[in-house]
Amino acid sequence: MKPKAPKKQANAREAPAKPVSQGVAPDSELPIKEKKRFEIDIFRGWCKSCGICAAFCPRECIRLDENGSPYVEDADRCTGCGWCELHCPDFAISVHERKPKKVEPPED
Ligand code: SF4
Ligand code: SF4
Repeated sequence: MKPKAPKKQANAREAPAKPVSQGVAPDSELPIKEKKRFEIDIFRGWCKSCGICAAFCPRECIRLDENGSPYVEDADRCTGCGWCELHCPDFAISVHERKPKKVEPPED
């Protein structure tokens, strides 16, 4: 009977065959992640212009006009945190993610 070859022991000092990545893929291999964008709707009929939404927005997306009514200054800054919705006493503000429009390929 032929004797079995000894199992190869892992040697800590042995150089790895391939360079070990440090868990970070090069930029060219990373998937491009689209920034989420949000839409902010203010329901004028329910809003009593208390200004809470503007006061709580950490990104200053919502401002108040000269009458104290809120308006969306810059929805692109919105992170969708929901603080404005959460603190509005009249459920007069709604934030939802803007979905990119699907572009259908042209028919032949
Ligand atoms: S969801 Fe957050 S960041 Fe967006 S408008 Fe409301 S409070 Fe501001
Ligand atoms: S918190 Fe609500 S009621 Fe107050 S200003 Fe904002 S949307 Fe209007």
